[in-house]
Amino acid sequence: MRKPDAGVVLERLEARYGRKLHTELKHSSKTDLFVAVFLSPQCTDKQVNNVTDELFERFRSFKDYAECNTLTLMKMLSGINYYRTKSKNLKKSAKIIIERFGGRIPRTIGELTELPGVGRKVANVVLNECFGINEGIAVDTHCATVARRLQLSRHKDPGKIELDLMGEIPREKWGETSNIFIALGRDTCKARNRECGRCVLKDICPSSNA
Ligand code: SF4
Repeated sequence: MRKPDAGVVLERLEARYGRKLHTELKHSSKTDLFVAVFLSPQCTDKQVNNVTDELFERFRSFKDYAECNTLTLMKMLSGINYYRTKSKNLKKSAKIIIERFGGRIPRTIGELTELPGVGRKVANVVLNECFGINEGIAVDTHCATVARRLQLSRHKDPGKIELDLMGEIPREKWGETSNIFIALGRDTCKARNRECGRCVLKDICPSSNA
């Protein structure tokens, strides 16, 4: 079976999961959202949400992060993976945001990825969620698995998968694509036990076993 039309894939996924326009990371400000996304690599949204309620009550601005005691921050983030490195990088990034960007979150992938601990995936999510800017597609493990199974990409490297998806999907859908592929990955297109029999793409997916 040939790879399906990306537009048809998105239409079906929107019909099944709704238009997944936003992240499930809890936040009440752009600063909160930046921090939640910053903490999210190698973690589930649930793990991040479990630590951010208390964190966001105590840390309201980038100045709070930049001036905090790193050990205090580590203690508050100890429920997430790589909390030591993430705590140090978050403090350093907050300092750079204040000193170089006047306390405002940078609005380009180039500037964002200069911050310690920020890769393309985090930068894409921050731009899309905070500012509605579609400069790329955030490719996490779910998104990569789905893209490869649908043969929208044959690559393993997230950067190359991102480029392939950008070539298949209209720009205005880039932010949504990531969220909706994640929804499919969590529901039926799981890494180990995919459940093609329940999948809305089973008749058009080249990897379907249904
Ligand atoms: S049909 Fe199976 S392999 Fe294809 S997207 Fe659905 S769950 Fe994944």
